[in-house]
Amino acid sequence: MCEPESLCLLGATGSIGCSALDVIRQHNRRFSLHSAAAHSNVQKMAEISREHPNAKLALFDKNSALELQKITGKNVLAGMDGLLELVSECDLVLNGLTGSVGCEPTLKAIECGKKIALANKETLVMAGAIIKEALKKNPAAKITPVDSEHNAIFQCLAGRGTEEVENLLITASGGPFRELPAEKFSQITLKDALNHPVWSMGKKITIDSASMMNKGLEVIEAHFLFDIPYEQIKVAIHPQSIVHSLVQFRDGSLMAQLGAPDMRIPILCAMTFPERLFLETKRISLPEIQNLTFYEPDFKKFPCLSLAYKAGKAGGTRTAVLNAANEILVNAFIQEKISFLDIPHGIEHCLAKIEEQHGELNLEKILFVDFSAREEAKKFVEKKCWNT
Ligand code: NDP
Ligand code: MG
Repeated sequence: MCEPESLCLLGATGSIGCSALDVIRQHNRRFSLHSAAAHSNVQKMAEISREHPNAKLALFDKNSALELQKITGKNVLAGMDGLLELVSECDLVLNGLTGSVGCEPTLKAIECGKKIALANKETLVMAGAIIKEALKKNPAAKITPVDSEHNAIFQCLAGRGTEEVENLLITASGGPFRELPAEKFSQITLKDALNHPVWSMGKKITIDSASMMNKGLEVIEAHFLFDIPYEQIKVAIHPQSIVHSLVQFRDGSLMAQLGAPDMRIPILCAMTFPERLFLETKRISLPEIQNLTFYEPDFKKFPCLSLAYKAGKAGGTRTAVLNAANEILVNAFIQEKISFLDIPHGIEHCLAKIEEQHGELNLEKILFVDFSAREEAKKFVEKKCWNT
């Protein structure tokens, strides 16, 4: 029998991480957990360690790493260095970190020529051009998307060239405010925004889904993953969330991938493509579906989607500004410091304030802009707090 593939799971304690752990539970001869990393969730990491005694561990937060070390008796790595060390030692990396912290481990995995199942969309939004360059320089490395829409497109494309593609159609559930009139958006509370109608996910992506920034980030993610111009990437609201995305080919054919809204499906696919392994999950019954509806998004009600297209089309460091500002503003909304409508206002403010870095794009410039946008967004939040 072949040796199991060793998996480094970044973001092991999160929503993607838990789904990935279930996938490897179902395929424990095919995969072994080489390592698990998270930010500071000591209890969950201790549980993972009990289930996978040989797995190496890392926590970004140094004090939490020491605490986990005491509980498990294992050496626990800490900080970004810890994450990067784990990434360099395994066969396959699943990046389920949330936010821009996912960027450096992705780059490291590419440099080490790893197979990468990528859920962390912020990596591509922030530094898509740099990731593409790194992939060119390290042809052994491969990224397979975990995000359900991109995984669907990846399956529909099945390696076809971009010249055969007319449009990518990214579906969106529309989130909890799909039918809420625009004049009621000023009254949206944190509880309302965390109440996603279909998917159960981490807090940041749940708020991004409510503002439709998640779809905006996914448009940018698709642009970099599949090398398709923004003009050919469309968003279709599809409340049932059964069609995970579609590709319109130049011969008029439309290919779609359908399935239950369960992230374990794209996770397994990204880990094993082009093979398909058995997965214990709900099967879609066509007679049960009855209706599949699709319609155009409302860009006025959801300005985050327009801002993402605008930043994507402008290129350069604009998507890094968008991403960094969004992270700070979403976090402030989660802490109930700003209103839901302050999220797009704050992003627009940061995009106007942070100047473009001209000349060749590199990681230093991206990190500089990321830092500046965060500082600007924090100032915006403080000002809002004084005014209320
Ligand atoms: P969660 O908030 O549920 O989990 C985030 C994970 O990242 C946790 O393990 C957290 O650790 C860890 N983490 C956060 N910051 C750091 C850090 N600085 N260093 C190390 N680890 C860190 O997020 P999700 O699982 O929902 O999302 C993960 C990514 O996948 C996001 O980019 C999201 O956009 C994408 N995605 C998620 C989907 C979903 O269904 N959830 C669907 C499609 C894409 P700790 O618990 O210790 O804080
Ligand atoms: Mg998605």
